[in-house]
Amino acid sequence: MKVIFLDRDGVINKEVGYLHKIEDFEFIDGVFDVCLNFQSSGYEIIVVTNQSGIERGYYSEEDFQLVTQWMLEQFKNHGIQILDVFFCPHGPESNCDCRKPKPGMFNQANDKYSIDMPNSWMVGDKEADIQAANSVGISNTILVKSGHNIDEKNSKSRFVFNSIKQVSTVL
Ligand SMILES: [Mg+2]
Ligand SMILES: [Zn+2]
Repeated sequence: MKVIFLDRDGVINKEVGYLHKIEDFEFIDGVFDVCLNFQSSGYEIIVVTNQSGIERGYYSEEDFQLVTQWMLEQFKNHGIQILDVFFCPHGPESNCDCRKPKPGMFNQANDKYSIDMPNSWMVGDKEADIQAANSVGISNTILVKSGHNIDEKNSKSRFVFNSIKQVSTVL
């Protein structure tokens, strides 16, 4: 299967820093349309998200799962089926293999679903998202300038867009 991988914070929802409450979750304008367009073009949708706030003790894994269940319901209400959500609960010091830019979450997804990486896409808002995708053979990468400062000149991303609304133009 071919997949569009989405980072969560700064791609699906507005970056607020360690988001863990539904009332703070605000969908970024255009994300539903992008998902619908990729879905109707035969892509599955998978979320891959670093959640170091769990190991840092800012919120619990249960908090994360409650937000995730709510988020998935909102997608469903828009006719969008998210195939799966992979998350890394670790902080930068734990040296796990899943925290982006490491490829662990993509490998977990591939073990579970057997993914056509060269024909898949990654949308992120940090260079770490792009690096992680590149390291598993995804060269179709999109950096959106929605949250973090982006060093566009030194980015390895294939595309850099001002808004997620532009993502569907690659189809
Ligand atoms: Mg992000
Ligand atoms: Zn991890």
